[in-house]
Amino acid sequence: MKKTFNKYVGHVKECQICRNKNLKIFLSLGHHPVPQEYLTKERLHEMEATYPLNMVFCDRCSLVQIDYIVPPEIVFPPDYPYRTGLTNMLIRNFQALADTMEKDGYIRKNGLAVDIGSNDGTLLKPFKAKGMRVVGIEPTGAADMANKNGVTTVKSFLNKDVVSRIVKKYGSADIVTATNVFAHINDTESLIANVKNLLSKDGVFVSESQYLMDIIKKLEFDTVYHEHLRFYSLKSLARMFEKNGLSIVDSDIITAAGGSIRVYAKKGKYKMSPRAKNLILAEKLAGLYDFKTYENFAKKISEVRQDLLSLLLKLKKNGARIVGLTSSCRSNTLLRYMNITDDILDYTGEKRGSPKIGMFTPGTHIPVVDEEKIITDQPDYLIILSWHIGEELMRIMRKVGYKGKFIIPLPKPKIVK
Ligand SMILES: [Zn+2]
Repeated sequence: MKKTFNKYVGHVKECQICRNKNLKIFLSLGHHPVPQEYLTKERLHEMEATYPLNMVFCDRCSLVQIDYIVPPEIVFPPDYPYRTGLTNMLIRNFQALADTMEKDGYIRKNGLAVDIGSNDGTLLKPFKAKGMRVVGIEPTGAADMANKNGVTTVKSFLNKDVVSRIVKKYGSADIVTATNVFAHINDTESLIANVKNLLSKDGVFVSESQYLMDIIKKLEFDTVYHEHLRFYSLKSLARMFEKNGLSIVDSDIITAAGGSIRVYAKKGKYKMSPRAKNLILAEKLAGLYDFKTYENFAKKISEVRQDLLSLLLKLKKNGARIVGLTSSCRSNTLLRYMNITDDILDYTGEKRGSPKIGMFTPGTHIPVVDEEKIITDQPDYLIILSWHIGEELMRIMRKVGYKGKFIIPLPKPKIVK
């Protein structure tokens, strides 16, 4: 492991929001490599670093978190292969976010929007199109792509220096966004302090995080990997913000990333909207503040693992050829936990242009190929690893000429003809 001076790495011994030391473990997914550590052919013969992946619950503030934090420079190396712009669903989501914020009066011509973890600039583009000045903050190589595409991006992790540099050069931000990144940053207190320093007095902070309610209801355990340190309910988000001087003024549920919660927060003390208050009530009714709910969740996951593995092994025994579609952090958790390796899946397909093509999946060593190979090959079964957008992917694959059967792995394994 690389040397790190960050105190927020390693085994998590207390709640990251309320510092409760009595965290209750409810799901052990085994040891996993970091999910974006795709391997070259040569590296298949080397040892892979793996880290424990367990889920724990805090019964004081109801935060769900993983109990081991891998140093961020290992989880997000400079050659990090994820590109927001490759996911159509996210492009639509960010356009919708900008439209909603325009309707709600947050967009100001020549105002400043700053996106934290801005990747290739996909989120900021619609804000720019609406006449705002935009600045992204992104530590990986995606920053170069954003700059090339005209979205000004500072290539760095979020820190005090970057914040003061941005405020000095561009002024305070009317809008600060952090989508699907909030759960990634290990030191929430500095994160919120940095957001507050970026924001103008009346500025609004918008964050989107995967929503704990969806993860529990839809059995989305595959969203658990070392990039996602915490899984939020509105109650736990509100508690974390309050503790650090921000109030959640509104919140909304959106479909991005298999079900996300979007919250709007401002500096100072404000009341929650009725919509947000209702959501807290719904969380309580759904059992999100109750440990039993999580024990049931873990039991169902263990069952689905047995069902899926026996289905695949049975098909394999009958001589079927099975390949996968897409390769992502999510699918890497799924494959590794289910122990689905290259002796079950011949390969998995990714869109042309994906930097993963030609590499092997971490931990399970399945070759990643151009998805067009699926059409020329016509395997008997295609397992949809991005099952949260399964309908869309099956439609596309039929349209481009795949004739075999599909397998949807979760929440209940099924074959679709
Ligand atoms: Zn807590």
